[in-house]
Amino acid sequence: MAASDWIRPEIQALHAYAIPDARGLIKLDAMENPYPWPEQLKTAWADVLQQVALNRYPDPQATDMAAAVRATFAIPADQSLLFGNGSDEIIQIIAQALARPGHSLLTVEPGFVMYRMIALSCGLEYVGVPLRPDNFALDRAALLAAIKQHQPAVIFLACPNNPTGNLFAADDIAAVLAAAPGLVVIDEAYAPFTTTSYLPQLGQHDNLVVMRTVSKMGLAGLRLGFLAGPSDWLHEFDKVRLPYNINSLTQASAIFALQHHDIFTAQAAQICAERTRLTQALTTLPGVTVYPSATNFILLRTPPQQAETWFQGLRHQGILIKSLHQAHPALRDCLRITIGTPEENTALLRVLQTQS
Ligand SMILES: *Cc1c(COP(=O)(O)O)cnc(C)c1O
Repeated sequence: MAASDWIRPEIQALHAYAIPDARGLIKLDAMENPYPWPEQLKTAWADVLQQVALNRYPDPQATDMAAAVRATFAIPADQSLLFGNGSDEIIQIIAQALARPGHSLLTVEPGFVMYRMIALSCGLEYVGVPLRPDNFALDRAALLAAIKQHQPAVIFLACPNNPTGNLFAADDIAAVLAAAPGLVVIDEAYAPFTTTSYLPQLGQHDNLVVMRTVSKMGLAGLRLGFLAGPSDWLHEFDKVRLPYNINSLTQASAIFALQHHDIFTAQAAQICAERTRLTQALTTLPGVTVYPSATNFILLRTPPQQAETWFQGLRHQGILIKSLHQAHPALRDCLRITIGTPEENTALLRVLQTQS
């Protein structure tokens, strides 16, 4: 008896999501918020955590947290909410509810790699439609043709997109919503860094849902994402969700953090200001293309064959970024840099300016 006799072939063909060891390094690889909380706030948070009854199961509906999320993010009152242990878990819940032979998940490439991994592990067919290689915009004709051909059960569009950093044009997304036979998920993981959102459009299309996470905003360690949309869909997804998927410490911490949401707004504004500075400085490096970003990271293309050298050079100087050179043919020579504190960004620029 061998595992390979039993594990599904599509699982055996997958590679586990690799996360490099970042101990001791300036960490500019994972779109985290670099700013810690003020000491006073940490103390107040610890007081809140002391009240949590760890001997009890968490509130399965996360009622108080839901009220805080609704108020903070202005979720339309007639729309339902579903929480996940990170938005990754929400992708998994959707895929589990929709998977059956012949059903597919469609998204764009290069895009967020978890859509494909989760589709395949849940038994959904996967369709990746290329973005336009010059500017990573949606290729409307190719998308509409693929939708017509595959009739996907669900379409995922991250807007802004990871790893390309750009927003998609509103009229392209409208065309997708009109053509989609099934569900359309707009993944707004990078909402803190842009003013564009599809939350106000909820209810105008019966197949539109919007997914958010608190990870990129500054709470990646909490593991909390949410889906907002029509109850027709969310009521069914809720049956797939494990009853206690949002633990008590996360619920209490999220309520506390959202009471101090202005801190995260201010941190996002600082990150956006650094995004402008870093973009300008990177653009002056010879032979480098910097792609416009509506996120907390910057995608750039180095001169030919330099991406790995730059990545390793930074690594030796104690700075970890993400090389996308091998990730997708459209990302040849590409690096993704998460925006750090001003000091971290200056350290990064110093290395790049000497080695380029
Ligand atoms: C980071 C990211 C997520 C995952 O967020 P978690 O809530 O941390 O699981 C989802 N979608 C996109 C596009 C992301 O970049």
